[in-house]
Amino acid sequence: AQNERESLMIVLGFAARYYQETLKNHEEGRSIGLSYFRERGFTEATLEAFDLGYSLEAWSAFTDAALKKGYQLELLEKAGLTIRKDENKRYDRFRGRVIFPIHNVSGKVIAFGARILRTDPSKPGGAQPKYLNSPETEVYNKSKVLYGLYQAKQAIRQHDVCYLVEGYTDVISMHQAGVSNAVASSGTSLTEEQIRLISRYTQNITVLYDGDPAGIKASLRGIDMILEAGLNVRVVNFPNGDDPDSYLRRVGNAAFKEYLQKSTVDFITFKASLLAADTHDPFRKAEVIREMVESITRIHDPIKRSVLFRQVSNMLEVEEDALLAESNRIRLQQARKE
Ligand code: ATP
Ligand code: MN
Ligand code: MN
Ligand code: MN
Repeated sequence: AQNERESLMIVLGFAARYYQETLKNHEEGRSIGLSYFRERGFTEATLEAFDLGYSLEAWSAFTDAALKKGYQLELLEKAGLTIRKDENKRYDRFRGRVIFPIHNVSGKVIAFGARILRTDPSKPGGAQPKYLNSPETEVYNKSKVLYGLYQAKQAIRQHDVCYLVEGYTDVISMHQAGVSNAVASSGTSLTEEQIRLISRYTQNITVLYDGDPAGIKASLRGIDMILEAGLNVRVVNFPNGDDPDSYLRRVGNAAFKEYLQKSTVDFITFKASLLAADTHDPFRKAEVIREMVESITRIHDPIKRSVLFRQVSNMLEVEEDALLAESNRIRLQQARKE
Protein backbone atom coordinates (compact mmCIF):
# COMPACT_ATOMS: atom_id res chain seq x y z
CA ALA A 1 0.00 0.00 0.00
CA GLN A 2 2.89 2.32 0.79
CA ASN A 3 4.25 1.55 -2.66
CA GLU A 4 0.93 2.32 -4.26
CA ARG A 5 0.69 5.65 -2.43
CA GLU A 6 4.12 6.57 -3.70
CA SER A 7 3.26 5.61 -7.27
CA LEU A 8 0.08 7.67 -7.08
CA MET A 9 1.94 10.72 -5.84
CA ILE A 10 4.51 10.34 -8.58
CA VAL A 11 1.90 10.25 -11.33
CA LEU A 12 -0.05 13.11 -9.71
CA GLY A 13 3.15 15.14 -9.65
CA PHE A 14 3.68 14.35 -13.30
CA ALA A 15 0.11 15.46 -14.07
CA ALA A 16 0.58 18.73 -12.19
CA ARG A 17 3.72 19.51 -14.18
CA TYR A 18 1.97 18.51 -17.40
CA TYR A 19 -0.96 20.87 -16.76
CA GLN A 20 1.44 23.66 -15.75
CA GLU A 21 3.48 23.15 -18.87
CA THR A 22 0.31 23.20 -20.99
CA LEU A 23 -0.76 26.48 -19.40
CA LYS A 24 2.55 28.14 -20.08
CA ASN A 25 3.64 26.71 -23.40
CA HIS A 26 0.76 25.18 -25.33
CA GLU A 27 -1.10 27.49 -27.66
CA GLU A 28 -4.52 26.51 -26.36
CA GLY A 29 -3.22 26.70 -22.80
CA ARG A 30 -1.90 30.20 -23.31
CA SER A 31 -4.80 31.62 -25.26
CA ILE A 32 -7.50 30.14 -23.04
CA GLY A 33 -6.05 29.18 -19.65
CA LEU A 34 -3.43 31.83 -19.20
CA SER A 35 -5.76 34.60 -20.41
CA TYR A 36 -8.35 33.39 -17.93
CA PHE A 37 -5.93 33.65 -15.00
CA ARG A 38 -4.66 37.01 -16.22
CA GLU A 39 -8.20 38.33 -16.42
CA ARG A 40 -8.62 37.30 -12.81
CA GLY A 41 -5.54 39.32 -11.99
CA PHE A 42 -3.24 36.45 -11.06
CA THR A 43 0.47 37.23 -11.46
CA GLU A 44 3.21 34.89 -12.70
CA ALA A 45 4.43 34.47 -9.11
CA THR A 46 0.94 33.40 -8.05
CA LEU A 47 0.66 30.87 -10.88
CA GLU A 48 3.96 29.41 -9.67
CA ALA A 49 3.16 29.48 -5.96
CA PHE A 50 0.00 27.42 -6.53
CA ASP A 51 1.25 25.36 -9.51
CA LEU A 52 -1.79 26.43 -11.52
CA GLY A 53 -2.34 24.73 -14.86
CA TYR A 54 -4.64 24.04 -17.77
CA SER A 55 -6.13 20.86 -19.23
CA LEU A 56 -6.67 20.75 -23.00
CA GLU A 57 -10.13 20.28 -24.46
CA ALA A 58 -9.14 17.12 -26.36
CA TRP A 59 -10.53 13.83 -25.04
CA SER A 60 -7.32 12.17 -23.93
CA ALA A 61 -4.40 14.56 -24.36
CA PHE A 62 -3.15 13.98 -20.83
CA THR A 63 -3.74 10.23 -20.75
CA ASP A 64 -1.90 9.80 -24.05
CA ALA A 65 1.05 11.83 -22.78
CA ALA A 66 1.18 9.84 -19.54
CA LEU A 67 1.01 6.47 -21.32
CA LYS A 68 3.78 7.60 -23.62
CA LYS A 69 5.88 8.33 -20.54
CA GLY A 70 5.32 4.77 -19.40
CA TYR A 71 2.67 5.28 -16.70
CA GLN A 72 0.22 2.37 -16.53
CA LEU A 73 -3.41 3.00 -17.44
CA GLU A 74 -4.52 1.34 -14.22
CA LEU A 75 -2.48 3.78 -12.16
CA LEU A 76 -3.88 6.77 -14.07
CA GLU A 77 -7.36 5.51 -13.28
CA LYS A 78 -6.57 4.95 -9.62
CA ALA A 79 -5.20 8.49 -9.44
CA GLY A 80 -8.54 9.81 -10.72
CA LEU A 81 -6.90 11.31 -13.79
CA THR A 82 -8.28 8.98 -16.44
CA ILE A 83 -11.75 7.56 -16.79
CA ARG A 84 -12.07 4.20 -18.52
CA LYS A 85 -15.34 3.07 -20.08
CA ASP A 86 -14.03 -0.11 -21.65
CA GLU A 87 -10.82 -1.47 -23.15
CA ASN A 88 -10.59 1.10 -25.96
CA LYS A 89 -12.60 3.95 -24.50
CA ARG A 90 -10.74 6.12 -22.07
CA TYR A 91 -10.66 9.84 -21.56
CA ASP A 92 -9.22 12.54 -19.34
CA ARG A 93 -11.26 13.49 -16.28
CA PHE A 94 -10.24 17.14 -16.65
CA ARG A 95 -10.76 18.71 -20.07
CA GLY A 96 -10.87 22.34 -21.08
CA ARG A 97 -10.47 23.54 -17.50
CA VAL A 98 -8.06 25.59 -15.46
CA ILE A 99 -6.36 23.37 -12.91
CA PHE A 100 -5.84 23.97 -9.19
CA PRO A 101 -3.52 21.29 -7.76
CA ILE A 102 -4.28 20.36 -4.17
CA HIS A 103 -1.16 19.77 -2.07
CA ASN A 104 -0.68 17.92 1.17
CA VAL A 105 1.10 19.74 4.03
CA SER A 106 4.49 18.69 2.70
CA GLY A 107 3.76 20.15 -0.73
CA LYS A 108 3.11 16.97 -2.69
CA VAL A 109 0.22 17.10 -5.16
CA ILE A 110 -2.51 14.70 -4.04
CA ALA A 111 -5.54 15.84 -6.07
CA PHE A 112 -6.90 18.52 -8.38
CA GLY A 113 -9.71 21.01 -8.51
CA ALA A 114 -10.62 22.11 -12.01
CA ARG A 115 -12.80 25.04 -13.08
CA ILE A 116 -14.66 25.55 -16.31
CA LEU A 117 -13.74 28.79 -17.97
CA ARG A 118 -17.14 30.31 -18.37
CA THR A 119 -20.30 29.66 -16.48
CA ASP A 120 -23.07 29.61 -19.06
CA PRO A 121 -25.99 31.71 -17.80
CA SER A 122 -28.29 30.18 -20.41
CA LYS A 123 -28.03 26.86 -18.59
CA PRO A 124 -29.24 27.32 -15.03
CA GLY A 125 -27.07 25.16 -12.84
CA GLY A 126 -25.08 24.53 -16.00
CA ALA A 127 -24.80 21.20 -17.76
CA GLN A 128 -21.27 21.06 -16.40
CA PRO A 129 -20.36 21.65 -12.78
CA LYS A 130 -18.32 24.84 -12.26
CA TYR A 131 -15.67 22.96 -10.32
CA LEU A 132 -14.75 19.35 -10.83
CA ASN A 133 -12.55 17.70 -8.20
CA SER A 134 -10.51 14.54 -8.09
CA PRO A 135 -12.34 11.58 -6.59
CA GLU A 136 -11.18 10.22 -3.26
CA THR A 137 -8.16 8.01 -3.69
CA GLU A 138 -5.59 6.21 -1.60
CA VAL A 139 -3.78 9.56 -1.18
CA TYR A 140 -6.74 11.95 -1.15
CA ASN A 141 -9.31 12.03 1.62
CA LYS A 142 -11.03 15.36 1.08
CA SER A 143 -12.29 15.68 4.64
CA LYS A 144 -8.69 15.63 5.90
CA VAL A 145 -7.22 18.18 3.49
CA LEU A 146 -7.25 21.96 3.43
CA TYR A 147 -6.57 23.75 0.19
CA GLY A 148 -3.66 26.16 0.52
CA LEU A 149 -2.39 24.87 3.87
CA TYR A 150 1.01 24.06 2.40
CA GLN A 151 1.38 27.65 1.20
CA ALA A 152 -0.24 29.10 4.34
CA LYS A 153 1.17 27.15 7.27
CA GLN A 154 4.13 29.38 8.00
CA ALA A 155 2.04 32.55 7.93
CA ILE A 156 -0.63 30.90 10.09
CA ARG A 157 1.99 30.21 12.78
CA GLN A 158 3.53 33.63 12.41
CA HIS A 159 0.26 35.56 12.72
CA ASP A 160 -1.29 33.01 15.07
CA VAL A 161 -4.55 33.03 13.13
CA CYS A 162 -5.95 31.07 10.20
CA TYR A 163 -8.40 32.62 7.76
CA LEU A 164 -10.92 30.06 6.64
CA VAL A 165 -12.49 30.80 3.24
CA GLU A 166 -14.80 28.91 0.87
CA GLY A 167 -12.98 28.85 -2.43
CA TYR A 168 -9.68 28.11 -4.12
CA THR A 169 -9.61 31.56 -5.68
CA ASP A 170 -10.21 33.22 -2.31
CA VAL A 171 -7.10 31.52 -0.92
CA ILE A 172 -5.07 32.47 -3.98
CA SER A 173 -6.15 36.11 -4.21
CA MET A 174 -5.54 36.68 -0.52
CA HIS A 175 -2.10 35.10 -0.79
CA GLN A 176 -1.32 37.38 -3.71
CA ALA A 177 -2.42 40.37 -1.64
CA GLY A 178 0.04 39.37 1.08
CA VAL A 179 -2.52 37.72 3.34
CA SER A 180 -0.98 34.26 3.12
CA ASN A 181 -2.61 32.65 6.14
CA ALA A 182 -5.78 31.55 4.32
CA VAL A 183 -7.07 28.03 3.62
CA ALA A 184 -10.24 26.53 2.15
CA SER A 185 -11.99 23.24 2.69
CA SER A 186 -12.25 22.00 -0.89
CA GLY A 187 -15.32 20.25 -2.19
CA THR A 188 -16.76 19.59 1.25
CA SER A 189 -18.19 21.50 4.17
CA LEU A 190 -15.82 22.03 7.08
CA THR A 191 -14.92 18.85 8.99
CA GLU A 192 -13.61 18.08 12.47
CA GLU A 193 -10.43 16.69 10.95
CA GLN A 194 -9.78 19.92 9.08
CA ILE A 195 -10.17 21.93 12.29
CA ARG A 196 -7.77 19.56 14.03
CA LEU A 197 -5.32 20.10 11.18
CA ILE A 198 -5.46 23.87 11.68
CA SER A 199 -5.02 23.45 15.44
CA ARG A 200 -1.48 22.20 14.82
CA TYR A 201 -0.58 25.75 13.80
CA THR A 202 -2.93 28.04 15.72
CA GLN A 203 -5.90 28.08 18.10
CA ASN A 204 -7.50 31.02 16.31
CA ILE A 205 -9.72 30.72 13.26
CA THR A 206 -11.39 33.62 11.49
CA VAL A 207 -14.18 32.56 9.14
CA LEU A 208 -14.43 34.54 5.87
CA TYR A 209 -17.24 32.90 3.99
CA ASP A 210 -19.10 34.25 0.97
CA GLY A 211 -21.52 37.07 1.63
CA ASP A 212 -24.65 35.21 0.62
CA PRO A 213 -27.26 33.16 2.50
CA ALA A 214 -25.34 29.92 1.87
CA GLY A 215 -22.15 31.51 3.21
CA ILE A 216 -23.89 32.77 6.33
CA LYS A 217 -25.41 29.37 6.97
CA ALA A 218 -22.02 27.71 6.53
CA SER A 219 -20.48 30.28 8.90
CA LEU A 220 -22.96 29.45 11.64
CA ARG A 221 -22.26 25.75 11.28
CA GLY A 222 -18.50 26.36 11.15
CA ILE A 223 -18.62 28.50 14.28
CA ASP A 224 -20.26 25.74 16.29
CA MET A 225 -17.83 23.12 15.04
CA ILE A 226 -14.82 25.27 15.85
CA LEU A 227 -16.13 26.03 19.35
CA GLU A 228 -16.80 22.36 19.93
CA ALA A 229 -13.21 21.61 18.94
CA GLY A 230 -12.01 24.06 21.59
CA LEU A 231 -10.60 26.71 19.25
CA ASN A 232 -11.37 30.42 19.21
CA VAL A 233 -13.51 31.64 16.35
CA ARG A 234 -14.04 35.06 14.83
CA VAL A 235 -15.92 36.14 11.74
CA VAL A 236 -15.62 38.64 8.91
CA ASN A 237 -18.82 39.25 6.99
CA PHE A 238 -18.68 40.38 3.35
CA PRO A 239 -21.22 42.54 1.55
CA ASN A 240 -23.97 40.51 -0.09
CA GLY A 241 -22.71 38.93 -3.29
CA ASP A 242 -19.03 39.31 -2.48
CA ASP A 243 -16.51 36.67 -1.53
CA PRO A 244 -12.98 37.52 -0.34
CA ASP A 245 -11.65 37.30 -3.91
CA SER A 246 -14.29 39.55 -5.53
CA TYR A 247 -14.17 42.02 -2.65
CA LEU A 248 -10.39 42.21 -2.84
CA ARG A 249 -10.53 42.88 -6.57
CA ARG A 250 -13.15 45.57 -6.06
CA VAL A 251 -11.47 47.54 -3.28
CA GLY A 252 -7.76 46.73 -3.68
CA ASN A 253 -5.15 45.29 -1.31
CA ALA A 254 -4.90 48.11 1.21
CA ALA A 255 -8.64 48.56 1.66
CA PHE A 256 -9.07 44.79 1.90
CA LYS A 257 -6.56 44.49 4.72
CA GLU A 258 -8.14 47.43 6.50
CA TYR A 259 -11.54 45.77 6.12
CA LEU A 260 -10.17 42.59 7.71
CA GLN A 261 -8.85 44.60 10.64
CA LYS A 262 -12.01 46.61 11.16
CA SER A 263 -14.63 43.99 10.43
CA THR A 264 -13.36 41.02 12.41
CA VAL A 265 -15.87 40.32 15.17
CA ASP A 266 -16.32 37.61 17.77
CA PHE A 267 -19.06 35.11 17.05
CA ILE A 268 -21.48 36.63 19.54
CA THR A 269 -21.30 39.98 17.79
CA PHE A 270 -21.67 38.22 14.43
CA LYS A 271 -24.78 36.38 15.54
CA ALA A 272 -26.17 39.56 17.05
CA SER A 273 -25.52 41.46 13.83
CA LEU A 274 -27.46 38.93 11.78
CA LEU A 275 -30.51 39.75 13.82
CA ALA A 276 -29.87 43.36 14.64
CA ALA A 277 -32.89 44.51 12.71
CA ASP A 278 -35.13 42.17 14.61
CA THR A 279 -34.13 42.73 18.20
CA HIS A 280 -37.08 45.06 18.73
CA ASP A 281 -39.25 41.99 18.61
CA PRO A 282 -38.84 40.45 22.09
CA PHE A 283 -39.67 36.94 20.92
CA ARG A 284 -37.22 37.06 18.05
CA LYS A 285 -34.63 38.46 20.41
CA ALA A 286 -35.20 35.60 22.84
CA GLU A 287 -34.65 33.16 20.00
CA VAL A 288 -31.36 34.81 19.10
CA ILE A 289 -30.19 34.71 22.68
CA ARG A 290 -31.09 31.05 22.89
CA GLU A 291 -28.97 30.38 19.80
CA MET A 292 -26.04 32.19 21.35
CA VAL A 293 -26.38 30.16 24.52
CA GLU A 294 -26.46 27.01 22.44
CA SER A 295 -23.15 27.93 20.79
CA ILE A 296 -21.53 28.94 24.07
CA THR A 297 -22.66 25.71 25.71
CA ARG A 298 -20.48 23.84 23.21
CA ILE A 299 -17.33 25.40 24.64
CA HIS A 300 -15.60 23.05 27.07
CA ASP A 301 -13.47 25.70 28.78
CA PRO A 302 -15.52 27.03 31.75
CA ILE A 303 -13.66 30.33 31.92
CA LYS A 304 -14.32 31.16 28.28
CA ARG A 305 -17.91 30.16 28.75
CA SER A 306 -18.31 32.44 31.72
CA VAL A 307 -16.74 35.42 29.92
CA LEU A 308 -19.08 34.92 26.97
CA PHE A 309 -22.22 34.62 29.10
CA ARG A 310 -21.27 37.91 30.72
CA GLN A 311 -20.85 39.45 27.25
CA VAL A 312 -24.24 38.28 26.03
CA SER A 313 -25.83 39.45 29.24
CA ASN A 314 -24.42 42.94 28.81
CA MET A 315 -24.88 43.20 25.07
CA LEU A 316 -28.45 42.00 24.91
CA GLU A 317 -29.58 43.12 28.34
CA VAL A 318 -30.62 39.82 29.75
CA GLU A 319 -29.95 38.35 33.21
CA GLU A 320 -26.91 36.10 33.38
CA ASP A 321 -28.87 33.68 35.55
CA ALA A 322 -31.36 33.13 32.76
CA LEU A 323 -28.52 32.33 30.36
CA LEU A 324 -26.97 29.85 32.76
CA ALA A 325 -30.31 28.20 33.39
CA GLU A 326 -30.89 27.81 29.65
CA SER A 327 -27.36 26.44 29.20
CA ASN A 328 -27.96 23.82 31.90
CA ARG A 329 -31.26 22.89 30.32
CA ILE A 330 -29.51 22.31 26.95
CA ARG A 331 -26.89 20.13 28.64
CA LEU A 332 -29.45 18.02 30.40
CA GLN A 333 -31.31 17.58 27.17
CA GLN A 334 -28.14 16.51 25.39
CA ALA A 335 -27.22 14.12 28.18
CA ARG A 336 -30.65 12.55 27.93
CA LYS A 337 -30.20 12.06 24.19
CA GLU A 338 -26.94 10.19 24.66
P1 ATP B 1 -15.04 31.45 -8.66
O1 ATP B 1 -14.65 32.72 -8.00
O2 ATP B 1 -14.00 30.87 -9.51
O3 ATP B 1 -16.37 31.51 -9.34
P2 ATP B 1 -15.59 30.40 -6.02
O4 ATP B 1 -14.49 29.74 -5.25
O5 ATP B 1 -16.03 31.73 -5.60
O6 ATP B 1 -15.18 30.33 -7.55
P3 ATP B 1 -18.06 29.20 -5.14
O7 ATP B 1 -19.20 28.91 -6.03
O8 ATP B 1 -18.18 30.29 -4.14
O9 ATP B 1 -16.82 29.38 -6.09
O10 ATP B 1 -17.70 27.82 -4.40
C1 ATP B 1 -16.73 27.77 -3.36
C2 ATP B 1 -15.94 26.49 -3.47
O11 ATP B 1 -16.78 25.36 -3.43
C3 ATP B 1 -15.15 26.34 -4.76
O12 ATP B 1 -13.90 26.99 -4.72
C4 ATP B 1 -15.01 24.85 -4.86
O13 ATP B 1 -13.95 24.36 -4.03
C5 ATP B 1 -16.30 24.35 -4.29
N1 ATP B 1 -17.28 24.10 -5.37
C6 ATP B 1 -18.06 24.99 -5.98
N2 ATP B 1 -18.83 24.43 -6.94
C7 ATP B 1 -18.53 23.12 -6.92
C8 ATP B 1 -18.97 21.98 -7.65
N3 ATP B 1 -19.89 22.07 -8.61
N4 ATP B 1 -18.42 20.78 -7.34
C9 ATP B 1 -17.50 20.66 -6.37
N5 ATP B 1 -17.03 21.70 -5.65
C10 ATP B 1 -17.53 22.90 -5.91
MN1 MN C 1 -20.47 30.68 -2.83
MN1 MN D 1 -17.20 32.17 -3.82
MN1 MN E 1 -15.37 33.64 -6.24
